[in-house]
Amino acid sequence: MTPLAQVLLRRIQQEGPIPVAAYMAECLLHPSYGYYITKQPFGGAGDFITAPEITQMYGELLGLALAQSWIDQGAPSPFTLAEFGPGRGTLMADILRATRGVPGFHAAMTLVLLEASPNLRAVQKAALGAVAAQWIDHPEDLPDGPLFLVANEFFDALPIHQFVRGQTGWHERLIGQNDGALCFGLSAALPFDAFDPRFAGDPLGTVVELCPAADAPLQAAARRIKAHGGLALIADYGGWRSKGDTLQAVAAHKFTDPLAAPGEADLTAHVDFEALVRTAGLPYAYAPQGTVLRTLGLDQRTEALAKRLSGPALTAHLAAARRLTDPGEMGEVFKILALYPQTTPQPPGFA
Ligand code: SAH
Repeated sequence: MTPLAQVLLRRIQQEGPIPVAAYMAECLLHPSYGYYITKQPFGGAGDFITAPEITQMYGELLGLALAQSWIDQGAPSPFTLAEFGPGRGTLMADILRATRGVPGFHAAMTLVLLEASPNLRAVQKAALGAVAAQWIDHPEDLPDGPLFLVANEFFDALPIHQFVRGQTGWHERLIGQNDGALCFGLSAALPFDAFDPRFAGDPLGTVVELCPAADAPLQAAARRIKAHGGLALIADYGGWRSKGDTLQAVAAHKFTDPLAAPGEADLTAHVDFEALVRTAGLPYAYAPQGTVLRTLGLDQRTEALAKRLSGPALTAHLAAARRLTDPGEMGEVFKILALYPQTTPQPPGFA
């Protein structure tokens, strides 16, 4: 049993069963045993690999899209370049390298990173080298001004509540204990009319997921973009609407039981992009990752870099491009959502 499992069992014995969201929050960010607090999860040697860790082209293309949108909006100065959940800092390092040649961009920018893990903050600082950044604990600490933001696999790490449709209402999925082991259970029914109306017509047994933890970061970003301009590019796996039980645990690149080893595995859930769009209340564009990257010029960039490579390095480079865009790999299940101001044309990357 992991040390966090003992902490959780004690809490459940005292307080009773807890929502999936409370379990997820403890597993990921418990101050002593949380997954993001104690681990270096990303990359080939870690538990999972994300798009920016697969190829530098990902950050380059998103960086240039942000810079183009900044130019299209009249190159506001100063502005905030921000990232939510920067992981190892790879994405931001690639964005900074790609935008170095954009006249005035770096001079006008204040770089701000929202990161909960002290460990990862240190890794990010090292990755950014000479570029100064400011780390914040709360999204409301973002400067009040134009905001150009990226978030890659951040929203999938926020705690979700799960509900199951029953005969008399929606039951929240809870985590309790049975003979000293964690197990799933259900709350008493919450009345239908107290629940998200998007799911009013769903059949008995439907599982839906709600992520109220997404509201604060999203509203903080949207308010700034609405008032001062900017762009948010949010990339994650998921779909337009929450469908089914998507809570998943991954350790060493393999799916595991989410209750088996709390604190030792990454826990995520699919992102409900419709909910993000509703919360943000901004114009938006939304498309599969593969489509957006191709529209931004991934194929041309792949070819240009390929000219300098040969042998295994060339094979790996071409495989990385395919991995990001192929519908059978990350191209389709990952989506990119752009949120932008009323007064601006649609950002680059969206047809
Ligand atoms: N964007 C990176 C890392 C994704 S993992 C990549 O694509 O490789 C999720 C990241 O979000 C980690 O850096 C994690 O520590 C951070 N994170 C998770 N929950 C958070 C929260 N509530 N507040 C701030 N950062 C959080």
